[in-house]
Amino acid sequence: MASERENNYRQLAKGVRPVSADCIFCKIAAGQLPAEVVYQDDLVVAFKDIRPVAPIHVLIIPRKHIPDLTAITPEDKELLGHIHLVAVQVARQLGLAECGFRLVNNCKEEGGQVVYHLHFHLLGGRQLRILG
Ligand code: AMP
Ligand code: ZN
Repeated sequence: MASERENNYRQLAKGVRPVSADCIFCKIAAGQLPAEVVYQDDLVVAFKDIRPVAPIHVLIIPRKHIPDLTAITPEDKELLGHIHLVAVQVARQLGLAECGFRLVNNCKEEGGQVVYHLHFHLLGGRQLRILG
């Protein structure tokens, strides 16, 4: 049986984005699971976190399945820049741009990552405490 990586290469060759069958964020990006989407385009989707830890808690994900931040490659440079531009746009849209916000990625086990599809937390709407 073909590995997930081989399948992803085949999909890429056909112009299809790599997705992971068991990944909840791939399913949200594909519209197969419900989410409160606040922004989306060809490359990314931003939706409200189901268990918010701040008055505003949005997750920004690439549509492409990247398991965690260590899996990025030079070909993802533009995507990562785009995620930051989208984060600022969503922050503006939700009224956070003036007072400020936090954009954070949890990477792997000790970084506190639970869902293994790259995502950035956009947090705001109250004074945030120091990290760590
Ligand atoms: P992390 O610990 O960085 O992997 O964060 C994963 C985040 O995904 C958590 O804040 C969860 O509350 C959030 N989450 C998990 N499932 C869903 C879902 N179906 N819709 C929205 N947010 C989710
Ligand atoms: Zn995924």
